[in-house]
Amino acid sequence: MTKFSELKLHPKVLQAVEEAGYTEPTPIQSGAIPFACEGRDILGIAQTGTGKTASFTLPIITLLNRGRARARMPRSLVLAPTRELAAQVAENFDTYSKYTKLTKALLIGGVSFKEQDQLIDRGVDVLIATPGRLLDHFERGKLLLTGVQILVVDEADRMLDMGFIPDIERIFSLTPFTRQTLFFSATMAPEIERITNTFLSNPKRVEVSRQATASDTIVQNLYQIPSAPRDTQAKQKRAFLRKILEQEGSGLSNGIIFCNRKIDVDILAKYLKTHGYVAEAIHGDLEQAVRTKTLDGFREGKIRLLIASDVAARGLDIPSVSHVFNFDVPSHAEDYIHRIGRTGRAGRMGKAIMIATPKDDKLLEAIQKLIGTEIPLTNFPVEIKRTPIQPIKVNPIKSIKVSEPIPKTVQLKPKSIKPATMVKKGYNKELITSDENFDMPSFIKLSFESRKKD
Ligand code: AMP
Repeated sequence: MTKFSELKLHPKVLQAVEEAGYTEPTPIQSGAIPFACEGRDILGIAQTGTGKTASFTLPIITLLNRGRARARMPRSLVLAPTRELAAQVAENFDTYSKYTKLTKALLIGGVSFKEQDQLIDRGVDVLIATPGRLLDHFERGKLLLTGVQILVVDEADRMLDMGFIPDIERIFSLTPFTRQTLFFSATMAPEIERITNTFLSNPKRVEVSRQATASDTIVQNLYQIPSAPRDTQAKQKRAFLRKILEQEGSGLSNGIIFCNRKIDVDILAKYLKTHGYVAEAIHGDLEQAVRTKTLDGFREGKIRLLIASDVAARGLDIPSVSHVFNFDVPSHAEDYIHRIGRTGRAGRMGKAIMIATPKDDKLLEAIQKLIGTEIPLTNFPVEIKRTPIQPIKVNPIKSIKVSEPIPKTVQLKPKSIKPATMVKKGYNKELITSDENFDMPSFIKLSFESRKKD
């Protein structure tokens, strides 16, 4: 088994690692660190939770330990797709560099330019940034990238999803050709492959299998609920989720609930709060200060449920989350792996529960293909009661027009119907209410099957 002491790291880094309590390097660390310390480019194919942040942070500290930064010319640059992830890299850097004199600055949106400018003016060894913010600083003439010796691109596949690839290419071209590049992505989409072929020079490829990390310590469950029209479906899912939460009981110490849309994150957080849960929303439209406060509250155990969008939650390092819920089946199969990777970390057991409807069949198939296994289908924890359909009180209509030939069924909006008055002379009337949802039908079917005999 490899030891940290065999990875060519600086003794001051080793001391900090020991104090962090790590006994042995993770596979991405033992695979990437020695090569990175030798100055090689790295292509790391690994997701969060594998220890990849340390696999680039530790070599950077080792390599930059000698020498000093010049004003406005950072010596290394780490690009991360989200503010949270960038902030997390910065925290990692503080932990591992505590016995060195290296300096860092964090360039993320939501923080004043003035403060960030002052740090850069003084000179920093490590600049950690989101691509947009970095280019803002560059364009204001506050920053020179010609001193960058090491460039890290973290979570490149997420950068691609977020449309950052042109920014990344531009940043690559602003840094010296002779730089060392450490490039990380959970997957190798063709566009990512193209970039690595263009900008990396004979990289050491280190791939960490994701299936093993996803399935070993995570128990996965799937609940299927029937289809319903959109509004009703969301309502139904919320009620259903609450039943699952109740069922999980005290085993649910803390959990992250993922929704596909920011608006649903907000609605669900509000809903759970009104039902007595300590829950908060986190997504990209919230102010940075709010997001930081929420995350701190969640880490400290003050908030039990975090309702999140993918972008906001990507790469969050929150130790020991007992549950991950997929309120929506993710539209990209890779996101399923990222989402459930929030639980079952560091050898602990975790539970990943997903709610799906028949409309999600295709997405579900893609996920199961990607993870190479079928997610076990679980029976409903509780029976979903079908609320009887209330008679609808509306203006009666005397008759409805049905064109010839007489169709078998006609669909009408409930508001234009009063059951008892729907008669087309010569035909029986029979109401068949839509069976597709539990609360309110969005339409009612009239059937004209049997002709009245005179
Ligand atoms: P990452 O993949 O960088 O997000 O790291 C996931 C988690 O693993 C973080 O909480 C790290 O602090 C932790 N970690 C990183 N390296 C090790 C290690 N060698 N042993 C134990 N935990 C580690």
